[in-house]
Amino acid sequence: MQLDHFVNSLGRDLKARYGERVKKLTIHGNFTCPNRDGTLGKGGCTFCNVASFADETQAQQSVATQLALKSAEIKVKTAKYLAYFQAYTSTYGELMQLDSLYQQALAYRGIVGLCVGTRPDCVSDQVLALLASYQQQGKEVWLELGLQTSNDKTLKRINRGHGWHEYQVICEKARALGIKVCTHLIIGLPGEGMVDYQRTIEQVVDLGVDGLKLHPLHIVTGSTMAKSYQAGRLTAISLEQYVEAAVMMIRHTPKDVVFHRVSATARKPTLIAPDWCEDRWLGMIAVAKALSEYGAQGSALAPKWHYLAA
Ligand code: SF4
Repeated sequence: MQLDHFVNSLGRDLKARYGERVKKLTIHGNFTCPNRDGTLGKGGCTFCNVASFADETQAQQSVATQLALKSAEIKVKTAKYLAYFQAYTSTYGELMQLDSLYQQALAYRGIVGLCVGTRPDCVSDQVLALLASYQQQGKEVWLELGLQTSNDKTLKRINRGHGWHEYQVICEKARALGIKVCTHLIIGLPGEGMVDYQRTIEQVVDLGVDGLKLHPLHIVTGSTMAKSYQAGRLTAISLEQYVEAAVMMIRHTPKDVVFHRVSATARKPTLIAPDWCEDRWLGMIAVAKALSEYGAQGSALAPKWHYLAA
């Protein structure tokens, strides 16, 4: 089942624009996070254990070494890449330090642009201007914003340390400068259901967005949520629930928005639940199959704000 037939995926989008395959290479910029170092908070987001998505050994290597190692791991060879600063908050540093790291990545052979993962409350005007300057030099720039949900009550409950407002402000500023915004959303956060997912996707789409990344809630060791799960206060999302929500969100998303991801995996023993998230293909194939049955991306664009009565 080819996901690209039903979704405007990043792979499809990049191939159409560059005429060949472009792969994302993840980099650890040795950053920290203001929600962990005490600036905003110490506990971090309740779902977070950075070790579940970041390789800490990478942090000690130069950007060039990381890119060389990551490009060597790619099975289907390609000559073009995006450098993805993924771990922690990759705009959380001095401007000169950021510029130096980003420029090291941009200077590496085959790098056509940057993806920079961060929090919506951690992107200064100076950082935006820096990213916009790379864009003006012909580089592709994606600002990847972790929003997770537009519901402020949930954001508070999961200890994000920011609300919808911070996202709204930075998303508008970035897009006004021509920087592409990719928004990360989690399906399965505590207390959330289909009404919340629909509200989130409609608010994000209505504000304007260039890319989306959908992610099932992973309950991972070392997170606050792991304790709740083990105490029986939290349940993990099933594959069926995930597919229903993801398909609804994709169908409510206009066709020009690029999906960087429609599911995500984690490895045991870091992953506690749900088990299905250990399989690399299960979520993606199930989403593609459901889209083939119910309609592709953009096939169910909703009238705005109808959920407000819900
Ligand atoms: S998810 Fe991101 S913002 Fe939240 S604690 Fe982890 S690194 Fe920090």
